Amino acid sequence: MLNPRKFVLKLMAILLIAAVLPFNVKQAKGQGGIVVEQPQVAVNFGQSITFQAKVTSPIPIQQISLLFREINEETTRVETLTVGADGFVSFTYDASLNLIPPFSWIVFWFQATLNDNQTYTSDPIRFQYKDDRFPWRDTSRANVNIHWYAGDDAFGAAALDAAGSGMLAINELVPISLNDPIDIYIYSNTTDLQNTLMLGGVDWAGGHANPEIGVVLVAIAPGASQGIEMQTKIPHELAHVMLYRSLGDTYANQPIWLLEGIASMVELYPNPDYARALEIASGDDSLIAFENLCASFPADAGNAFLAYAQSQSFVSYIRDSFGSSGLTRLTNSYSEGFGCELGATNALGTPLSQLDARWRENVLGQNTAGVALRNLLPFLLLLALVLMVPLWGTIDMLRQRRKNGNNST
Ligand SMILES: [Zn+2]
Repeated sequence: MLNPRKFVLKLMAILLIAAVLPFNVKQAKGQGGIVVEQPQVAVNFGQSITFQAKVTSPIPIQQISLLFREINEETTRVETLTVGADGFVSFTYDASLNLIPPFSWIVFWFQATLNDNQTYTSDPIRFQYKDDRFPWRDTSRANVNIHWYAGDDAFGAAALDAAGSGMLAINELVPISLNDPIDIYIYSNTTDLQNTLMLGGVDWAGGHANPEIGVVLVAIAPGASQGIEMQTKIPHELAHVMLYRSLGDTYANQPIWLLEGIASMVELYPNPDYARALEIASGDDSLIAFENLCASFPADAGNAFLAYAQSQSFVSYIRDSFGSSGLTRLTNSYSEGFGCELGATNALGTPLSQLDARWRENVLGQNTAGVALRNLLPFLLLLALVLMVPLWGTIDMLRQRRKNGNNST
């Protein structure tokens, strides 16, 4: 997985950190450093995050800042603070800006310039930005943690079973990791879930995975259909996490139809409405070309549903034609940076557009040659027109010439 250039870059980064670290540590522990007492964080989920502490130092503080970021973020927020008489500092972050994903970890620290013109940095402190609006209950098996607030003990146990079966299904397609923890939060209704996703900056429906932090959010109501919903939604979102853990940064290079197709294939109950959606779209010629499902899925619910149905069917067709190893070659090809069309050529010897046509022909029973001709018809008519105009002109010219010739004789 690790390419040599990345390895060298990583090594350089480690060496750089190693070179910088003792300097920082010396600064923080140097004479006249700062002492942070009783650091506290109060989370009002989706509203605000308040950081408070008492910062003291033997010599006066010129200037002090709070620095914080979500642990996977590259940019650090820096806020200048006012120090109270007893060293009390406080800052309230507006969490309604929706920039911090739910259940992600936030790291913060203080940095102060004292009257000796030296800058001192405190040790970092981590906390989790939890959706604390619900009385979460927990149960775990191996590296999977289930959190839920509606339903009994059996509900939590059934969710664990669904996660276990999902892992086995995923393992057929993607290597699974049993070390890093995965947290699955089960909301009891889509409104609660969608509020959370919007609060986390994602305006999206259904389940959701945040693979970078190993967090899965789904909406499943306790009741008769809980089993089917668990065995559909949990494996799907788990697949996103496992794909991310297997592909690393190159997860972002993968076409959306491929990621969603793989995730939909491991759902333990195939969606019965997918076949119907495909049949209708195939019949009225409204299927979406896969080259238009590489970067994103349609925003409207109807076309998004069709996009999932197509991806599930298309990726299953690729797996049936080229095997699981074909799918692995495909993800590797996109990881290497091939574009959507050529990635398929590189991995499977067939460009995406041709795979699309073959899928329509073999799975949906379309006559793609006929479809292609029908699509070409307007252009053929236009071509005929374009060719006929000069032809008429020539005929006209010849007629004129003959007439003129007749006159001169
Ligand atoms: Zn998905």
